[in-house]
Amino acid sequence: MRGTAPVVTWLVVFAVAASLMLAPTAAGQSSDLVLARPGTMPLILSAPHGGIEPIPGVPARSTGTTARDIRTDELTLAVSQRVESLLCSTPYVVVARFHRLYLDANRAPHLAFEHPDAAPHYAAYHASIRQYVAEVRQSYPTGGLLLDIHGQGMDPSTIHRGTRDGLTVRKLLETSGAEALVGARSIFGRLEASGYSVYPATISSGGSVEDPRYRGGHIVATYGSHTDDGVDAIQLEIGSSFRSESALPQLADDLGGAIADFAAAYLGANHCHESPPIFQPSWEPAAQLSAALGPAVLKVGVSRSSCRSRHWRC
Ligand SMILES: [Zn+2]
Repeated sequence: MRGTAPVVTWLVVFAVAASLMLAPTAAGQSSDLVLARPGTMPLILSAPHGGIEPIPGVPARSTGTTARDIRTDELTLAVSQRVESLLCSTPYVVVARFHRLYLDANRAPHLAFEHPDAAPHYAAYHASIRQYVAEVRQSYPTGGLLLDIHGQGMDPSTIHRGTRDGLTVRKLLETSGAEALVGARSIFGRLEASGYSVYPATISSGGSVEDPRYRGGHIVATYGSHTDDGVDAIQLEIGSSFRSESALPQLADDLGGAIADFAAAYLGANHCHESPPIFQPSWEPAAQLSAALGPAVLKVGVSRSSCRSRHWRC
């Protein structure tokens, strides 16, 4: 997993951020603290815990976990760009800009926030996911995937999988079997083959029982395919050693590649380039990313001219 030069960059993240839009709430309002972008393929990327911004008028929560999952916002945007570069199709993206200190979008409402002014941002996050799940179900009836991207520090050199032991990917398991979750072209199987430690280990254990600490939270439980109106949903808990400033580009490269290969194997995707485009190898810290995710960069767009995929809408 260390053999190739990183191809994800700050410029790439800018391009992805540029195409993000303010997320509508269920009441038709918008939140400038939720970044949401519709996609052109049956993949939704969610990152609820990477934000750094305060919510105006909202004090810090007094209970619950308040630490952010460092750089998972950057990672999600870079992974999206990597997938697009390989498949010429755009994932749906929902990324929190608000800090978990004020609002936790991966909790049920009564545990997510304490101050009512946080409620519209919670509603915006979930309205975006719900809308995108509905779109994916309608446009891609054979199946879609929601990846909820998190970080953990208790097991820093491991990437944990959370599906509530297969519950939230019920449809995937029924249609494609366990191979789709732990096999050679599964996301975690690909990561393990690339040298990452994953849990459950796909090769040695068959990957059936997940760590109780990371087996899947509110988002995958709400939108997973075990529900009547859901899609297959997997929570990823990325160890902190993979999220250092220096390691993150390689992780984004490898994770994006694993997701694209999964999409080719199980979601009907086609790889559209033999070689991914090479970008300038640079990276910036989260604070600069957050500053960049404002309206000033929204005029920059992601080019669709190279899209050659005919399987999905481009
Ligand atoms: Zn998290």
